[in-house]
This record gives sequence, C-alpha cells and structure tokens, in this order.
Amino acid sequence: MDSVIVCRDCGKTVERNFNFCPWCGCSLMPEEDISSAVQDACLRMDELRRSRNVSRIDVLDRKLIDLEKILSQLASLQTLHN
Ligand SMILES: [Zn+2]
Repeated sequence: MDSVIVCRDCGKTVERNFNFCPWCGCSLMPEEDISSAVQDACLRMDELRRSRNVSRIDVLDRKLIDLEKILSQLASLQTLHN
C-alpha cells in the first residue's frame, strides 16, 4: 500500500507519512491546520477531563506529543531558513 501526496511547492510526489517534502523542505501540513488541530485537541482534553475518560485522554496526550514534535520541526526549519 503506497500512498503518496504531491508537494504543493515543488510538485514532486512524497510519501504520505512525511511531514516535510524531502525535495524542497516545505511543510506538507499547513500551519493553520496544525494550530487548529492543537486547539481542537486541547478542547477535547478539557472535555474528557471533566467526564473523567482517562483512557481517551492518554490517546489525545500522545497525539499532542506528536503535534508538538511537528511544531518544533517547523520551528527549527524556519530557523534554518533565516
Ligand atoms: Zn517539495
């Protein structure tokens, strides 16, 4: 199962699991999407804390950690470009 996406910057095909294009280094995930995903995850975590659904909080916690990694990758990429 080979799923690929097309980089909107250089137009080359990239494996879907890449966060950044290996050809041009552009982010394959729009920044607005990342911040709204983080906001959404935070809101859901608050809701789940109130409903004490601990196992789902664990899942969301891991997703947040993944998002934080992507955000720090983005930050370091921007530093490199400056
Ligand atoms: Zn590219």
